Amino acid sequence: MRIAFIGPPGAGKSTQAKRVARSLPSHNRSPRFSSGELVRAEIEAGTELGREVAGYHERGERVPDEAILSLLLPRLRRAGGFMLDNFPATVGQARALDEDLEENGAGGLTRVVCLEGPSDEDLVERILGGRRTSRATGEVYHLEHDPPPRPEERLDPGAFQERDDDTGEATRAHLEAWRREAEALKGHYGERGLLEVVNARGPMAEVTEAILEALGHPERPEYYASQRGI
Ligand code: ADP
Repeated sequence: MRIAFIGPPGAGKSTQAKRVARSLPSHNRSPRFSSGELVRAEIEAGTELGREVAGYHERGERVPDEAILSLLLPRLRRAGGFMLDNFPATVGQARALDEDLEENGAGGLTRVVCLEGPSDEDLVERILGGRRTSRATGEVYHLEHDPPPRPEERLDPGAFQERDDDTGEATRAHLEAWRREAEALKGHYGERGLLEVVNARGPMAEVTEAILEALGHPERPEYYASQRGI
């Protein structure tokens, strides 16, 4: 399956991309590619590209399309299936992705899941009120809604990342950037019959259920028997 998760910051794209991947049968699990994680890794490693994009990232601005595309596209060409987390974020990126998948015979996206619904206040609370991201696994937690494992559970996620975009200013900038692009991006995939808008307001397990339902329940054997997707 080639699924893209889009939506405002804090809607739960990372959380749900992982939950959905985990609920699929193991032979159909797909790697997750998060544009944010790839950008942060380049910045931390101090690469040339990392240095180029550090300023944008810190201010909560979107990094230029070419930078994101050069990080993402080569990885996607090698992966049969994938879950895209926060990519594409612009119509320009969406077009470049469509073309690249087509040129490389990889097949287009299976579905685009747009997570929407929480109020701005809730989105900001989810990000600033307790989001924690594991440096080692990229796993996202929330101190209140989805607490990290306790030491006795022996699933220690290690140190958390310092995310310089977890500030009020960067979060507002991300929200505005999403608003500017949302209708055009949803229109792009809506016209192609790929868009599924899922209400992301409820508790995480409920949102996962709604996504699996919108995808036609790929976690169930019938999905593959009816050869609906992949
Ligand atoms: P995004 O990738 O869309 O920016 P995240 O997956 O990082 O969003 O989620 C933002 C924060 O909100 C995280 O701390 C996550 O644990 C929490 N969160 C995600 N989904 C929900 C939900 N349905 N209810 C409450 N908190 C949530």
